[in-house]
Amino acid sequence: MHELSLCRGIADIVERARDGRRVTVVDVEVGHLRQVVPQTLEYCWGLVCQGTPLEGARLRIDHIPVRLLCRDCGAHTDVAQALVLVCEGCGGARCDVVRGEEFMVTSMDVEGEGSHG
Ligand SMILES: [Zn+2]
Repeated sequence: MHELSLCRGIADIVERARDGRRVTVVDVEVGHLRQVVPQTLEYCWGLVCQGTPLEGARLRIDHIPVRLLCRDCGAHTDVAQALVLVCEGCGGARCDVVRGEEFMVTSMDVEGEGSHG
């Protein structure tokens, strides 16, 4: 279950960044190619946070679709389902993945700061 180690990574980042404040929401970007199951990620996040100062913080997952750049014709292709990675322009498979491999914490909400109202 690699979601568990991903969540530990998120918790480490947030723990360092929170500076003693209480975190309410953590925003993460997850690329489709990461093959993360959102429900599993949320479940693991709960496990990782349990009994820590991060307990109760919500994970907000932003799914990043896969985008390809074709080496042959230069076309960009957004792949809804990361199953077939071929170029829409010429049907070629010699494509570089330019998006879809993300896994990063983009921001977080902390109590008593910002984002109210
Ligand atoms: Zn192409």
